[in-house]
Amino acid sequence: MSETLLVTGAAGQLGRLVLDGLLASGKISPASIVATSRDTAKLADYAAKGVQTRPADFDDAASLEAAFLGANRILIISTDALDEPGKRLRQHKAAVAAAEKAGAKHILYTSMPSPETSAVTFAGDHLGTENAIKATGIPYTILRNGWYMENLFMALPHALASGQWYSAAGNGELAHIARADIAKAIVGALLSDATESATYTLTGETKHTTDEVAALVSQATGKPLEVVHVTDEQLAGGLKAAGLPEGFIPVIVSFDTNTREGHISMVTADAAKLSGQTLTTLESFLEASKPVLLA
Ligand code: NDP
Repeated sequence: MSETLLVTGAAGQLGRLVLDGLLASGKISPASIVATSRDTAKLADYAAKGVQTRPADFDDAASLEAAFLGANRILIISTDALDEPGKRLRQHKAAVAAAEKAGAKHILYTSMPSPETSAVTFAGDHLGTENAIKATGIPYTILRNGWYMENLFMALPHALASGQWYSAAGNGELAHIARADIAKAIVGALLSDATESATYTLTGETKHTTDEVAALVSQATGKPLEVVHVTDEQLAGGLKAAGLPEGFIPVIVSFDTNTREGHISMVTADAAKLSGQTLTTLESFLEASKPVLLA
């Protein structure tokens, strides 16, 4: 590939996996990859491999414009700025505007499943960003990332320690996908020579209810795990009692609401289609994660 590919959020967990995949593909030279971070020192290991590293802060439009110069295909990895309502969408819009100014030929963006109907509190950030990208008229690839299997690490270690997993997800189903499989699909999309616009939803291949996930966790760890079904309000109360930051509680509760209401129950073949590889199953992920789950 002769085009220059740019990855924002490159020092993050997903960004690093994407860089690793690009380098391992042998389809692009390291010098044709641009990796951005607010702190390029975090990318020193990639600079040593010949990747161009540039500073870019989504809160600083000038830094984005300078960083994006000369990049043909730009992957905007959504930021983790959930602390202030409106901030993340503002950041993403600045990145989209900078990509347009830099003359990008293709914009790729990590969104979320069904942002139009989702009950997740921050769905508007993703829908707003998708719409801003579409408004530029630049060809795009929207990658609607499903729920990482790694998200289970938030609740499960504590739940396993007590034997009880409090959930407001009811019988809603969800096809978790490993972060590494999302990264592989993104690598496929970045390296693709397809120029038309497309939207993909990246999910695992099998969906499970929370009770089914709990049974798989028990099987992998050998520890009993009972799902205690609660309402949104009861879950919020429990999270508050556990000391979670007040501002973050509605976000966490909305994940379960979203699952219960069926907004994230889709199963697609998009991830394997883009990566050309078999996906990790939840069973094998849990088996490999035993040390983290039992920590
Ligand atoms: P990380 O927390 O590892 O990475 C977050 C990235 O956001 C960092 O690379 C950071 O870049 C970047 N970032 C934050 N603020 C700014 C800013 N002002 N300017 C530029 N970059 C910024 O998350 P992951 O890699 O695991 O996930 C990537 C994204 O995917 C998350 O940010 C989140 O939006 C989303 N996500 C999705 C999940 C899912 O289940 N679908 C689960 C978790 C996250 P740096 O500090 O280097 O500047």
